[in-house]
Amino acid sequence: MVGEPQADCVFCKIVSGDIPATVVRETERTLTFRDISPQAPTHLLVVPRTHHADAAELAAAEPGTAAELLTEAGAAAAGEGLAAYRLIFNTGAEAGQTVFHAHVHVLGGKPLTEGLV
Ligand code: 5GP
Repeated sequence: MVGEPQADCVFCKIVSGDIPATVVRETERTLTFRDISPQAPTHLLVVPRTHHADAAELAAAEPGTAAELLTEAGAAAAGEGLAAYRLIFNTGAEAGQTVFHAHVHVLGGKPLTEGLV
């Protein structure tokens, strides 16, 4: 069923507590935790508790939760003291998506002016 946890999904396992993560924020609908392989001094992931393959599928099924990913990303960035940060939604393997549970990367703590890719 749409949104149900998937047994083979690492972010579903983090949401359920079966895999540990350093959680920095949580709401009824979202979880924000540190990326295991940070690409910047601050590298957070904001995920919905429900399982959707990517952000577009999340937005189609649960627009309120999709919007909350953005408000939580902003709140998490503020919590990290970031005046500037980058949000990234990799969508599809060829765009670099490796975990097929919707998420937004929050990156900051160093200059990110070198370009998008
Ligand atoms: P994607 O490449 O799908 O946009 O991003 C997936 C992100 O999840 C990667 O940056 C990767 O480092 C992170 N990641 C993968 N497995 C784990 C894990 O078990 N724990 C945490 N905290 N992050 C993970």
